[in-house]
Amino acid sequence: MDRSLMDKLQILADSAKYDVSCSTSGVERKNAGRMGNAACAGICHSWSADGRCISLLKILFTNKCVYDCEYCVNRRSADVERASFEPSELADLTMEFYRRNYIEGLFLSSAVEHSPDYTAERILQCLSLLRYEYGFAGYIHAKIIPGVSQELIHAIGMVADRLSVNIELPTGESLQRLAPQKKVNAIFSPMKQITTTLIEQKALKGPGTMFKGKNINNPLHDLQPMGKELIQTEGADADMGDGSLYQISSPKEGHSLIKEPRYKYKERFAPAGQTTQMIIGAGTETDRQIVKTSESLYRSFKMKRVYFSAYVPVRNSPLLPSLFTAPPLVREHRLYQADWLLRFYGFSADEMFTDAEPNLDLELDPKITWALRNIHYFPIEVNKASMEELLRIPGVGTTSALRIIRQRKVCAVKYEDLKKMGVVLKRARFFLTCSGKYYGGKDLIPEYIKGKILKADGIKSRLLPINDEIQISMFSPESFHLPATPQDSVSLQRSLETNGGLLI
Ligand code: SF4
Repeated sequence: MDRSLMDKLQILADSAKYDVSCSTSGVERKNAGRMGNAACAGICHSWSADGRCISLLKILFTNKCVYDCEYCVNRRSADVERASFEPSELADLTMEFYRRNYIEGLFLSSAVEHSPDYTAERILQCLSLLRYEYGFAGYIHAKIIPGVSQELIHAIGMVADRLSVNIELPTGESLQRLAPQKKVNAIFSPMKQITTTLIEQKALKGPGTMFKGKNINNPLHDLQPMGKELIQTEGADADMGDGSLYQISSPKEGHSLIKEPRYKYKERFAPAGQTTQMIIGAGTETDRQIVKTSESLYRSFKMKRVYFSAYVPVRNSPLLPSLFTAPPLVREHRLYQADWLLRFYGFSADEMFTDAEPNLDLELDPKITWALRNIHYFPIEVNKASMEELLRIPGVGTTSALRIIRQRKVCAVKYEDLKKMGVVLKRARFFLTCSGKYYGGKDLIPEYIKGKILKADGIKSRLLPINDEIQISMFSPESFHLPATPQDSVSLQRSLETNGGLLI
């Protein structure tokens, strides 16, 4: 490998580390005489020092960007080393890595070099080489840049397993403020096109169990308009675009970018569906706005996943959190738990928040928080409750709820059985009865239950500053105020961890 290719690899792999929407392939293509197999291993992952999941060949096609998004390390005005691959360079590199068993797939994102279409064409050339010239059958996740033409989106979808269009910011207001060159309409339009194409091919799967029992591949199943959280910005174009299948040209147009293909296989458009990613903590939006936007994305576009990426400060800007702010990793974790409730537990975003409490409790998982706010709903009798009711009990998951229902058909469930069924009793016991008997103590008082759960989980000791007696610096802005809220405490603790215990 020559030096310049090595440099490109280093620069472009490093630039890709902030994109987290790479997990799980979810595709079933088997190895049929070609190279690679997307079914058995999915993408090879590794974990970076800050806890992010990174696939081994997770890379940008280019970091030369004509846009200037405030939060981004690759923005046009940033003073960073720049590089772009040639399509054949990246295709060769992928094959070499694959042959050496370094990777099982490719996660390919990109900045915007010259224009969205110019960049997408080069990405398409690279992916077409991999699929049609080299016969690569491994997993490919390709990023669609907002503003790319419909023909190119379709052609890339025919060679990639999964597509993602990053929404990046959860509200139209923050999009306008932090990424003014990105338009809401240019983000929704490709999302809608991808969903429409999947519906046409009856290949839409949707998120988790959110649409269980519903035929989401029915063309009459409307793509609902986005929730107003994202589009309420004055002047923002709220229309979801016109990405109709009927206006999409033949994928052959894109394939003509390379010579006659050596390998042919039955083409399916993005069989692993589409995902998106939101940056958390770059703007001022509440968790309620973030979860509502996620819910709208799931309902409107039947996304497989919405990923959250805690904002890592990369520069000093009056529009962004200070460079001293630690990435909000606990908040990111709680948002993933809330997302799980949306996708698998039948919760809606509105249920998880109140006007007075628009943010998730960092100390408790969102299901417990909801249960404590709705204590009148409990205790639930496990021998009578429906599946939906069982899933509302903190400590009861989908598997344990199913086991309870199955056992009830034979005989009544006893309290001693619950642990064996996978119920986490240190949480669940406060919210259920077994044949009429309550095991959570004397009273159903939220503060009392919260204290008991925090103690049992040891959550408080894990979240609050480890050592109150740490010597703080006179020169740090953080040294002039003590944490006032749990969020502040977590932020302070992360800052201490990041800086090796010193506030610098
Ligand atoms: S378009 Fe993408 S790469 Fe370019 S500045 Fe914005 S976020 Fe960064």
